[in-house]
Amino acid sequence: MPEHVLQQLFENNKRWAEKVTKEDPAFFQNLCQQQTPEYLWIGCSDSRVPANQIMGLAPGEVFVHRNVANVVSLTDFNCLAVLQYAVEVLKVKHIIVTGHYGCGGVIAAYEGNAPGLVDHWLEPVRYVCRQHADELNAIVDRDERLRRLCELNVEAQARNVAHTRIVQRAWSNGQQLTIHGLIYSLSNGLVKALDVRLAGIKALS
Ligand SMILES: [Zn+2]
Repeated sequence: MPEHVLQQLFENNKRWAEKVTKEDPAFFQNLCQQQTPEYLWIGCSDSRVPANQIMGLAPGEVFVHRNVANVVSLTDFNCLAVLQYAVEVLKVKHIIVTGHYGCGGVIAAYEGNAPGLVDHWLEPVRYVCRQHADELNAIVDRDERLRRLCELNVEAQARNVAHTRIVQRAWSNGQQLTIHGLIYSLSNGLVKALDVRLAGIKALS
């Protein structure tokens, strides 16, 4: 049989499954029974920002939604379906919106040079640009300005999560649920908490 074009990935997978089983023979058996993650991660699709590895979490510990520039749009059924399942079925305790410096999506939104569909997708980021135009324009250094935009985008998308009926219903039912905004640095691998932490309807007023 000829080698599959993904041969390397199959070999990686086999080695990984063997390593995990060696460390914990019941690992996969236990995971089959249920998943009980405490976290929903909403992050960027960027290949350099993988949720599990960055946070040191094993399979089963984080529910993940990723898209270009970690956008939370109230008309995106994909994101809303993930959010609803995470909040109402899995009953996650924390929703972590994580952006990253040097985000290609954020830069493309700022420069307005993304191709068609991506450009359309990035409208919520352009909205953040417009909302914070004064603050951003006051930053002379372009890289610094883009870094700040990456942060502002995370904060705005985290607030969008809080504005969904899904989260508001959970809060009014007394469910313990906190929304956090984090930013990841590609240059040193570290995440930092941003000034957004929403744990109830009052946080929005
Ligand atoms: Zn990105």
